[in-house]
Amino acid sequence: MLKNRYDIIVIGGGLGGLTAANRLARAGRSVLLAEQHSQLGGLATFFQRKDHVFDVALHGFPVGMKKSFRKYWGADFADRVTQVKSVRFHNPQYRLESTFDTRDFTARLTGHFKIPAQTVQAFFDAIANMNFYDQNDETTRDFFNRFFPGRTDVWRFLMEPITYANGSTLDEPAITYGIVFGNFMSEGVYTFTGGTDLMIAMMTEELRRNGVDVETNLQAERIIIEKQKVKAVVLNGREVACDAAIGNGSLPRLIRELAGAEHFDPAFIDDVNAVRLSTSSCQVYVGIKDGEKLPFIGDLIFASTWPEFDPEALLSPDITSRTYSVYYPEIRPGTRKYSIVASMNARHRDWVSLDRQQYRAAKQAMIENTLDALTEYIPNIRAIADYTEAATPKTFARYTGHLGGATFGTKFEGLRCSMDLGKHISGLFHTGSVGIIMSGWLGAANYGVITANEADKYIAALQR
Ligand SMILES: Cc1cc2nc3c(=O)[nH]c(=O)nc-3n(C[C@H](O)[C@H](O)[C@H](O)COP(=O)(O)OP(=O)(O)OC[C@H]3O[C@@H](n4cnc5c(N)ncnc54)[C@H](O)[C@@H]3O)c2cc1C
Repeated sequence: MLKNRYDIIVIGGGLGGLTAANRLARAGRSVLLAEQHSQLGGLATFFQRKDHVFDVALHGFPVGMKKSFRKYWGADFADRVTQVKSVRFHNPQYRLESTFDTRDFTARLTGHFKIPAQTVQAFFDAIANMNFYDQNDETTRDFFNRFFPGRTDVWRFLMEPITYANGSTLDEPAITYGIVFGNFMSEGVYTFTGGTDLMIAMMTEELRRNGVDVETNLQAERIIIEKQKVKAVVLNGREVACDAAIGNGSLPRLIRELAGAEHFDPAFIDDVNAVRLSTSSCQVYVGIKDGEKLPFIGDLIFASTWPEFDPEALLSPDITSRTYSVYYPEIRPGTRKYSIVASMNARHRDWVSLDRQQYRAAKQAMIENTLDALTEYIPNIRAIADYTEAATPKTFARYTGHLGGATFGTKFEGLRCSMDLGKHISGLFHTGSVGIIMSGWLGAANYGVITANEADKYIAALQR
C-alpha cells in the first residue's frame, strides 16, 4: 500500500534506480521505488517463454561489479560473480580467443598483432592515467592513431566489444573509451551465476527487507515542483508527497515531460535539447530444445563479416555483425537449459518507419538470418532450436520508455545535464545510463550510489 509521503521517490527500477533505492533505505530514508513496467530491471531484465528464460543484458560486466555488489547489495550477490571463460572474435581481419584481461591483451597485441611491447605498455599506461576531470579534446580515433596508426585490425580488437557494449564510436571523447575499456581490461569479463531473474528476485527481497516500498505497474506521470523545489510525484493519477525524487529513466523525458521545461532556465533546456541519445539495439533469442545440448563454442562471440571496424556498419539493418552470448546450464545451476542471445546495435528510425506488416517481416527475417549465421558454429541449430523471438528498438522503447529506444543512455554531454539537475530544482536527481561512462551494469549501479549520496545529503539538510 502506498503511503501518502516518502522522503524520496525513485522513479524507475533499472539498475541505477534499484541501487539508489537500496542505498537510501540503508541510510534510514523512507523510500518508494515506482516502476511503470510489470517487472523490475529495466534494460537489465529477463523474460520467460515456454520453459526458457532469456537474459536481455547479461553478456558480461567488469570485475568492479563484484565490489559494487558486495558494498551496495551484499556478499551473497558478490559471491555469484564468476568470470566468463572464453571471449572469441571472428571477423575477416582475425580469428582469435581472449580472456579479455591485461595479460591476455598484452600477449595478443604483441604476439598476434606484432605491436612492440613498449607501445602496448604506453597504451595501457595512458588508459590508467586518464582522469575524468582533465580537459582533453582527444577523440578515441586520435587516441588509437597515437599508438596504433593505421592499424584498423588493432582498433577493431580494442574497440568493437566496447561499441557493442555502449554504442560508442571513434568520434567520442577518448576518456569515455578509456574508462570503460580500463574497467574491463583490468581482469576480464564477468557474469552473474543464477541469471538476471535470480538477481532481480534477490534485489527485490533485499529492498523490501530494508523497508523500501517496491511497486511495479506504477507510472510516474508528473513531478510537482513548487518554488523550484520537488514537492510530490503523481503516480497512476495519485499525488504522493516527497522531499526528493530520483528519475532513473530517459533523461530528456525526466526534464521535459515529468518535471516540465518551464521550471528550468532556458539555457539549461537548450543544453538538454542538444544532448545526443545513444543508439538502440536488436536481439534474437534462441531457446534450445529440452534434452539437446550445445557444443562449447565460447561464451561470448564477436562475429562479423564486415571487412573493418565500422560503427555505422554495426548499426545497419542489413546485419553483418552480431555478438552471441551463449548460455550453458552452468549459468543457472541445477537446470539443463541452453540458449543463445544474438545482439546487434541498431537505429530506432530504421524500425519505426516500417508499417505493421513490414515490421513483422523484418523481425522474422532477422531471426532467419541469425539462424543461418549460427549454422557456422552449430550446423544443426534449426533442428534443435525450440523457440525464437526478436526484440527491436521499438521493443526497448516500449518496455523502458527510453526516447528513441536508446539502450545505452546519452552521449558524453548528457552527464553534465544529469549531474546538474539539483542546481536547478532542489530535490530533483537523475541516475542511470548517461554520458557513456555511467552506462552498463557497473556504470548504472555506481551512478545510483553517487546520486543516492547526493540525495541523502539534500534530505538531511532539509530535515535538519
Ligand atoms: C541489448 C542490451 C545488452 C546489454 N548488455 C550489457 C552487458 O552485457 N553488460 C553490461 O554491463 N550492460 C549491458 N547493457 C546495458 C545495461 O543493461 C544498462 O546500461 C543498464 O541496465 C541500464 O540501467 P539504468 O539504471 O540506466 O536503467 P534502465 O535499464 O534504463 O531502466 C530505467 C527504468 O525506469 C523505468 N521508467 C522509465 N520511466 C518511468 C516512469 N515515468 N515511471 C516509472 N518507471 C519508469 C523503466 O521502465 C525502466 O525499468 C545492455 C543493454 C542492452 C539493451
